[in-house]
Formats: sequence, structure tokens, C-alpha cells
Amino acid sequence: MGSTAPSTTFYAWVSGAGPTGCIAALGLAAAGWKVVLHDPTSMQQLRSRSRAYALTHSSKKLLTELGIWQELIKNSQAFKTLQLSDSSNHKSVCFHQNNQDLGWIINHPNLMDLLLQRCRQNPLIEWRVGETIDPDSPPNNSPSQLKVIAEGGNSASRKALGIGFYGWPYRQGCLTVQLELQPQQQFAGVQPAHTAWEMFRPEGPLAVLPLGGNSYQVVWSAPFKRCQERAALDPAALLEALAQVLPIQLKPIALLDKPGAFPVEWRIAPKLVHGNQLLCGESAHRCHPVGGQGLNLCWRDVAVLVSEARRMRFRGTNLAVMLRRYQQRRWLDLICTMVATDALVRIFSNQQPLLRWLRCRLLLLLKSSATLRQLSLKMANGGWAN
Ligand SMILES: Cc1cc2nc3c(=O)[nH]c(=O)nc-3n(C[C@H](O)[C@H](O)[C@H](O)COP(=O)(O)OP(=O)(O)OC[C@H]3O[C@@H](n4cnc5c(N)ncnc54)[C@H](O)[C@@H]3O)c2cc1C
Repeated sequence: MGSTAPSTTFYAWVSGAGPTGCIAALGLAAAGWKVVLHDPTSMQQLRSRSRAYALTHSSKKLLTELGIWQELIKNSQAFKTLQLSDSSNHKSVCFHQNNQDLGWIINHPNLMDLLLQRCRQNPLIEWRVGETIDPDSPPNNSPSQLKVIAEGGNSASRKALGIGFYGWPYRQGCLTVQLELQPQQQFAGVQPAHTAWEMFRPEGPLAVLPLGGNSYQVVWSAPFKRCQERAALDPAALLEALAQVLPIQLKPIALLDKPGAFPVEWRIAPKLVHGNQLLCGESAHRCHPVGGQGLNLCWRDVAVLVSEARRMRFRGTNLAVMLRRYQQRRWLDLICTMVATDALVRIFSNQQPLLRWLRCRLLLLLKSSATLRQLSLKMANGGWAN
């Protein structure tokens, strides 16, 4: 960076205080911008969703730069092993990297408590959370004003700009639920508390993510109607259904939250910028939860936004250049990651003999090649973006 800070003040309006909007506000403030953070939702609602995120190394890098990581990992659970299996041919591969952390699982309330608190304390961030603001009134009066749209999948600002989506809904939906499992012993050399599972099943992938202690998050993909039916089961029946599909050493004993079923889509906005506004996070794209890419992809948008905001402030590029560069720099990672998640779903949720044979070969290849396993991990950690 080397150059001295310029005297001009740069202003941004961040619309949406979900995980993407909060990180965008913190990142822009770290780049020296003055930020207004707006969300009509109350603090209580913002923090109270029941879900958990798998964070990759690309997220760690951004959060470390923003000085949040050390605090965040106190409330997250690292995993050192990823067990990937295909139930239709009983093949599995174990990913690990010299006992290093492969990823981290964090509960939404823990994440949001920290992000909202940091935003609120930051003197460069004007806090407009829980307020209803007339969308037609200009956010502020600066000539270099940028609007970051981080309003999630149903963004009204995106729709008002006339930007739609390319994509399709999946036949599959997702059931998410947090579980208590029987205390685990080491099983076949695997320490369950530090292990995440991704099991490919004919009806869709099933992920089991450690939350710490004996708590786990389950993300169970299946035809959407089946997800809804399972979510409506009484707890004992759902536990029984889960016991049938979880890895043999994981015995569910209690539900820790209310199960939820939601539809899954693959969609991407055809453009990420319009005038002085840019789309960030789920306002711009949404993919299948397989591989836990969703939030990490959103935060890689923010990483590019922050680096371009810094460049604009310190190197004197203008807003139009900044927006153009943001869009150019995001395409490769977005397309590659989203195509990869889609390919995983299509290839693995399929009983065609040729694809079953291909999967079997692929898993055997992964099992025998440490280089290929390292490469896969690099890609899952945002390798397209580096
Ligand atoms: C039901 C459901 C369950 C999920 N479960 C999981 C899971 O278990 N694990 C996982 O990794 N991912 C999960 N996801 C995906 C994950 O939630 C997203 O990747 C993540 O929330 C994206 O963050 P975001 O900030 O871009 O959008 P959001 O989290 O949707 O945040 C958008 C914010 O913008 C605000 N907003 C909306 N309109 C406006 C407006 N006009 N002006 C100002 N603010 C506005 C909203 O109030 C909201 O706070 C789930 C998604 C859904 C829908």
C-alpha cells in the first residue's frame, strides 16, 4: 500500500445487514470509507436464524485482514478431516492436511453477534439497522457515493434496477437441523469432533458438520416435498429417519432446533453493477449448498470489493473504474465455483450406470492421489479466486 491516505472522503451505502452486508461495511470502513449500514430488520431478527455456516480458508483470509478472525474462531468449531462418500457404490475418500484445519463451522447467532457488534462500534459506520427508510430519498450527498446491494435473494433494489437472474430451481430442496449425537469414540482412525461428512446419496447430498461437543448441523438434500414432509415429522420419527442415513458411528439422540426445509436454486445475475450500485452476496448469486460454498462465495465478493475500494482511495481510480474492475474480477470465481457445485449435484445425485461407474473411478482416483486431493481442497477453498 505504501502511499499516504488521501484527504477526499469516500462514502458508501450498504443495503442489508446480513453476513455479506456486515462484512462489506466492515471491509469498506477498514479501507477508510465512511459507510451507512441499513437494514429494516431488527437486531434480534438479524441474529436469530437457525443455521450454521462452513467457512473456508478464503473467508479466514478476509476475516483475518479485517481483524475479526481471532474473535470469531473462539465460537466456531474447526474440522481437520472431511469424509466424502458415495452411498451407491460404498466408496469413500478422507481429506486431511497434516492435521491442519480444513474449515470451520459457526452458528449464525454467534457470527451475527460479533459482526453486528463490530459494525456498531466502528466510528466510520453509521448504524441504520432496524429503521425503515424511504428508498427514494438519497442516502447521502457525496459525489463519490457507492451503493452496495447486499439484500439477499429477494433484493428489492436489484429488482428495481431491472436485473433478473439466469438459472433454475433444483428439484432438490434442503432440510437443515441441529442434532445432539451420542458421545463419540474414535472410529476407524477418525476423530468425530473434528470431522465433517459429505455423503452423496441418490436423493441428494447429506452434510454433517461438527458444531462443538456432541452438537452437529445436518444439511440433508432431497426432493423438496420430501424435505418438507421430513421437517414436519415428530422429533422421534425424524431422529429415526436420520439414524437410517447418517454414517454408522453417528447415533442421533436429540434435535437441538426446529428443522427447516427450503428450496435450492442455481442462479446468477447477468451483471453485477449498474450505475453507482453493485450487487454483492446472495443478491447476485445463489448455489446448491453442496460443498458449503454459499457464504464463502458471498464473502469473496466482499474481498474484491474491499481491495477495489482501497485501490480507489489510495491510487485515485474513479468509481466507474472501481465498479468495472469489481465485475471483471468476480466472474471467473463465480462461474467456476457455481458450475463445480452444479456438476457435483448432477453427477452424484444420479443412478445412471455410466455415471455410477465414473463416480467410482473418480473416488478411487482421489483416494490414490494425494496431489488430486490437495488440488480439490484448494479449489474448495476458493482456488479459482487466487
Ligand atoms: C432458509 C435458508 C436456510 C439456509 N441455511 C443455511 C445453512 O444452514 N448453511 C449455510 O451455509 N447457508 C445457509 N443458507 C444460505 C445462507 O443463508 C446465505 O448464503 C447467506 O445468508 C447469504 O448472506 P447475505 O448477507 O448475502 O444475504 P442474507 O443473509 O439474506 O441477508 C440479506 C439482508 O438484507 C436485508 N434486506 C432485504 N431487503 C432489504 C432492503 N430493501 N433494504 C435493506 N436491507 C434489506 C435482509 O433483512 C437481510 O438481513 C440458507 C439460506 C436460506 C434461505
